[in-house]
Amino acid sequence: QSQELSQVQIDYHAALQALVEDGTRMVCTGRMHTDRICRFESLCYSTEAEEFVYFHSNSSVMLPNLGSRRFQPALLDLSSVEDHNTQYFNFVELPAAALKFMPKPVFVPDVALIANRFNPDNLMHVFHDDLLPIYYTMQQFSDLDLEARLFFMEGWSEGVHFDLYKLLSNKQPLLREQLKTLGRLLCFTKSYVGLSKITTWYQYGFVQPQGPKANILVSGNEIRQFTKFMMQKLNVSLEESSSEEYIVVFSRTINRLILNEAELILALAQEFQMKTITVSLEEHSFSDIVQLISNASMLVSMHGAQLVMSLFLPRGATVVELFPYAINPEHYTPYKTLATLPGMDLQYIAWQNTDREDTVTYPDRPWDQGGIAHLDKAEQERIIKSTEVPRHLCCEGRPPPPPCRNPEWLFRAYQDTKVNIPSLIHVIRQTVKSKPGPKKQKWSSSLYPGKVRDAKCQASVQGTSEAKLAVSWQIPWNLKYLKVREVKYEVWIQEQGENTYMPYILSHQNHTFSENIKPFTIYLVWIRCIFNKNLLGPFADVLLCST
Ligand code: UDP
Repeated sequence: QSQELSQVQIDYHAALQALVEDGTRMVCTGRMHTDRICRFESLCYSTEAEEFVYFHSNSSVMLPNLGSRRFQPALLDLSSVEDHNTQYFNFVELPAAALKFMPKPVFVPDVALIANRFNPDNLMHVFHDDLLPIYYTMQQFSDLDLEARLFFMEGWSEGVHFDLYKLLSNKQPLLREQLKTLGRLLCFTKSYVGLSKITTWYQYGFVQPQGPKANILVSGNEIRQFTKFMMQKLNVSLEESSSEEYIVVFSRTINRLILNEAELILALAQEFQMKTITVSLEEHSFSDIVQLISNASMLVSMHGAQLVMSLFLPRGATVVELFPYAINPEHYTPYKTLATLPGMDLQYIAWQNTDREDTVTYPDRPWDQGGIAHLDKAEQERIIKSTEVPRHLCCEGRPPPPPCRNPEWLFRAYQDTKVNIPSLIHVIRQTVKSKPGPKKQKWSSSLYPGKVRDAKCQASVQGTSEAKLAVSWQIPWNLKYLKVREVKYEVWIQEQGENTYMPYILSHQNHTFSENIKPFTIYLVWIRCIFNKNLLGPFADVLLCST
């Protein structure tokens, strides 16, 4: 990987002339700043002003052309974290003629992906906010291939996980600070700005308390396509089941410790009759951890960013998340949400320390490690007495105003815990009945039925008060190519003009309805197919039936 911009010979004179004549061209996807990604030709960046520059010329294009709505609040989010006011992207405009008076542009020949990392020192943030979104943004645009170059504009230094970012492309990613060394005015020949949010599953609680995103659009399949790519790049082989089954305890060594780790490991090994090993980010290489986790039957860890590594667990494995005293597992669910994404096929178990005797607090540490000594006495008392941290907002990475740094949360989050072994084993046993770990079962892929076909109805009237409606249809077209355990049909019969309907679940492709069917009435009949109880297909076009 070369640090310099690639040495593709570009005809500098021609490039400059094209910039002056054509200006900047921008075409974006997305209707709002929160779902927008823009493709630019000749987007420039002034390293002195630390601003992107859009040059107007005869051939420039700006779509969407928002006028001043471009500032309300921004053109787009540079990170995958939604609508965060420190992550907005915009540019300043200049006429191309101004180039005559500006520093000579340095052209960036690589196709560029320009974005912000959100919190590159925290592994959960690294995977969830950056690596997965970058990977799938690159999948979305075909010229963002392995020869593309990443530009991180958030202003952080490389951070402890920079090697992971390097796996996403063959070229060394560049940081905002490094751009200065390249020139005063950089012009990106072709660039994409912004990140796809389609794979994110969690919101961190900036405007409402943290929790799963409202509309999750990713499944285990896409997560595993990504982890497969990462494992290839890390040279981790996907060993198959031949080897022994084992449990991984992912420990933290600096804070939020498990105080009786040795006892815990022995207990797990004994209970499940499996080898049990510990790993930590401090003591193991990243690829060793991935290798171990990717074949593990169970992953046990304190709540914390290292648990995002359950991304790499094999299907069927179990995640056990341990929560310190006074921290309600239901309120902090990034890893639960991950483990229970459709198709992740992981079992998730939360255990919480409910015993004050088993917790060790650190009131005298600095505030960012959970200390509370800086608070007034009454507030310290209240926090120490409290049995549960109330739901709160959170604002990692955002400049202070309260309630960002919630001292009560930090105080409880950085406790050490002596894990009550019988209580933990009991909780695990409620879910894991026999041996944990990848079952040899084939995972049923969840394919949905198509519409039923050729729906027909025939009415018959008996006297003045009774009628029957015979409805028939053909199987969905895709069913003949599938092996499906159970095929059912749902039929709704709605009298025209009424808001209610009568629902039926049927096993056959025809049925005669006589209950509540009136003569000389028009009915709307809605039919859909259902595979395996919960895979609901689309309704076929409504059928109009007059008795
Ligand atoms: N970390 C770690 N061992 C420790 C403490 C932290 O590996 O003893 C890692 C942790 O996994 C995360 C980063 O350091 O990637 C920041 O940890 P922090 O406690 O700030 O965040 P959290 O884990 O609560 O998200």
